[in-house]
Amino acid sequence: MCGAFSDKWFDVSQRCGKQAEALQVPWGSAILPEMVREKLSAGEFDSLTLIHNETSCGVRNPLREIAAVLKDFPDVLFIVDSVSSFSTEAIPMDELGIDVLLTGSQKALAMPPGLALFSVSERALARAATVSDRGYYFDFVEFAKNQEQDMTPSTPVIPLINALASKLDDIFSEGLQNRYSRHAALNAQVHDWVKARGFEFFAPEGHRSLSLTCVKNNREVDVAAWIKSLREKHRFVIDGGYGKIKGKTFRISNMGDETQETIAALLSALDDTLP
Ligand SMILES: *Cc1c(COP(=O)(O)O)cnc(C)c1O
Repeated sequence: MCGAFSDKWFDVSQRCGKQAEALQVPWGSAILPEMVREKLSAGEFDSLTLIHNETSCGVRNPLREIAAVLKDFPDVLFIVDSVSSFSTEAIPMDELGIDVLLTGSQKALAMPPGLALFSVSERALARAATVSDRGYYFDFVEFAKNQEQDMTPSTPVIPLINALASKLDDIFSEGLQNRYSRHAALNAQVHDWVKARGFEFFAPEGHRSLSLTCVKNNREVDVAAWIKSLREKHRFVIDGGYGKIKGKTFRISNMGDETQETIAALLSALDDTLP
């Protein structure tokens, strides 16, 4: 847990009656592989959940290094939320040994909200079959059975599935490598602006998100007033900090369909309205 979404996952797990344990670091810090090793060595765990890209704080957790630690705990399933990183960089699920990879339509895929997307390893499917009270709507076994007939367990949001097919066409015509490079370049464009304006980053070097930037408000500007004039004068909206870091941070996204031009336009509007 290193931000709002990972904190929330713990809460959700408990509300589902799971015996979950917290591995908590301060918001904005990363989850390090040695912390995971220490925690897993100290108890008996069925699974580890990890938010790859903690959207609230702009932290990118070291997925590959944590995956390497899990190789030493072969009974622990690896469940990864890639909501704000999916398709912005390569996440080789099988190679890393990820058992469940989750994402949503509305962040890195830049689609309307409404779809939860997941991929499940053979191992996780077999484990699911041993769990009682799996319910119906989110039962992997039920999904797999239906998928054999190109069906879903319940009526899906068909318009969004068509939108997803169209988005995937766009992604593959851009090319995955090009998409990854575009995100890296746009992220660097935002980082350059942050440094040039004398701001700092909320996340430490080496653990910064590639798809959004959480900026520390070290200049102590009135973020709410800034965003208000940005909206009124330029019709742009950025986030003024999530939950308890509202006003102390602000966030600039470069995920989805952004281009060098759209990011440049946003940054110049930010300059124009900077209090
Ligand atoms: C937005 C987000 C979620 C939650 O998505 P909702 O559809 O808003 O519930 C979960 N994880 C991460 C990393 C997110 O950025």
